[in-house]
Amino acid sequence: MNTEELLRILACPRCLGTLRALAEGGGLAGLACPACKVLYPVRNDIPILLVEEALDLDQWLGEHPNAKEDA
Ligand SMILES: [Zn+2]
Repeated sequence: MNTEELLRILACPRCLGTLRALAEGGGLAGLACPACKVLYPVRNDIPILLVEEALDLDQWLGEHPNAKEDA
């Protein structure tokens, strides 16, 4: 399953909005919800779409300056 297919079926568990994939070092690093300003981490290629696991998006981007949106 590629990232585009993944994003089509995944939604933010908080607002049910569209998620944006952020890649870092050639791998999927996280799924961001711009509306909630949170980032859902990806561990072992598995997105953790849990509200309680969500990270602050701006803080995460500050800690991962090389992360890019995976269009
Ligand atoms: Zn959201």
